[in-house]
Amino acid sequence: MGWRCAWRCCTCWLEGTVSRLLIKHGRVVDPTQRLDEGLWVLVVDGKVARLAERIDDRDAEVLDATGLVVAPGFVDVHTHLREPGFEYKETVATGSAAAVAGGFTAVFAMANTDPVADTAGTVEQVWRLGHEAGLVDVQPVGAVTIGLGGQQLAELGAMATSAAQVRVFSDDGRCVHDAVIMRRALEYVKAFDGVVAQHAQEPRLTEDAQMNESALSGVLGLRGWPAVAEEAIIARDVLLAEHVGSRLHVCHVSTAGSVDIIRAAKARGVDVTAEVTPHHLLLTEENVASYDPVFKVNPPLRGVADVEALRAGLADGTIDAVATDHAPHPVEDKDCEWSAASMGMLGLETALGVVVEAMVETGLLDWAGVADRMSVRPARIGRLDGHGRPVAVGEPANLVLVDPARPTTVDPHALQSRSHNTPYAGRTLPVTVVATFLRGRATVLGGAVVGAAVDA
Ligand SMILES: [Zn+2]
Repeated sequence: MGWRCAWRCCTCWLEGTVSRLLIKHGRVVDPTQRLDEGLWVLVVDGKVARLAERIDDRDAEVLDATGLVVAPGFVDVHTHLREPGFEYKETVATGSAAAVAGGFTAVFAMANTDPVADTAGTVEQVWRLGHEAGLVDVQPVGAVTIGLGGQQLAELGAMATSAAQVRVFSDDGRCVHDAVIMRRALEYVKAFDGVVAQHAQEPRLTEDAQMNESALSGVLGLRGWPAVAEEAIIARDVLLAEHVGSRLHVCHVSTAGSVDIIRAAKARGVDVTAEVTPHHLLLTEENVASYDPVFKVNPPLRGVADVEALRAGLADGTIDAVATDHAPHPVEDKDCEWSAASMGMLGLETALGVVVEAMVETGLLDWAGVADRMSVRPARIGRLDGHGRPVAVGEPANLVLVDPARPTTVDPHALQSRSHNTPYAGRTLPVTVVATFLRGRATVLGGAVVGAAVDA
């Protein structure tokens, strides 16, 4: 369907599609963020050209979307694509395939690669790899400190003005725990409307921590990871952001106390945003009782009351976005004893299904809310143009088509990711991503990835 730009440059008009596509009978999340039954969408040259109750266009390829939700493509503000350096876990190409299979049209690639993405050269390399894969817009995240070392600020300005135009900076995987470094980073990113995305984990309070600190961690004999280790950093950073008048983003919020701190900060007018992962919306520390390291993740799975608070926070907008924290690991890093296993789990391909189960089926969010938390707001947090836009005339046709009535059973070996560490193996999630379009070009059709780069 359509052309691929032979030069793979970012501005070429051929990069989209020169064909016409008519999506008919869909349930469109419209510009007012309502769900409009039976609206037809005409896409011409990669943009939404017309929306109407019926459109006749003989030249258009027709896609019957009866019963399907048509929403803006999802944006993941927190993904680990592992390249360069850890290609045995994931590559930009395999991670891009996983992203489109999950309905994403843009992902932010975290900086904890090897080398660390702490220079203009490395972020441009990741950005170019994304273009070569050609499935999803890969927006690199720049490291806050050199080598994620927490000691010395990285070249934030050089990354911001590079071809990759980095706006999100994070040492994710590690916390920027030095208050002076954090303050300087917050001050620095103001110059280019950037944001510091903090992995909130007080390092001393979490030394050798293995799971949520609770009665259960005592029973299981695993070193506890207290909620206060997250909350103390968020409280400090909110105050720092307020003090210097900068923008703060909090990665993977996992405790009820964190939600309270962010809610209070927003009420006071602090420019803070926050994300929650799908797994923290659905799974709990009870899963750890299996000692199956597939459930070992940073921050750890918490208690039921935390999950309820996270759901409520996402529903009322205290938490702005769902972000996957997609963290591929090979089997040898996960299929071992708990204490030796790596932290992290896959997320891109199951994110929507988990969000629908946790938020839509519980009545906490409607489909417009899903589009807002998985597309509109994450794009805004990352200042990513062309994504998170309403399905409206003139907007880029970055779209996802979802069958809300067709469940999917998760088969780890059928996933696009190079790794298989999904905590949902064998679990049936309530929806299916049927199609994904990047600027009008299909990246998923009939539930299958199309146009993926060949990858052995
Ligand atoms: Zn993190």
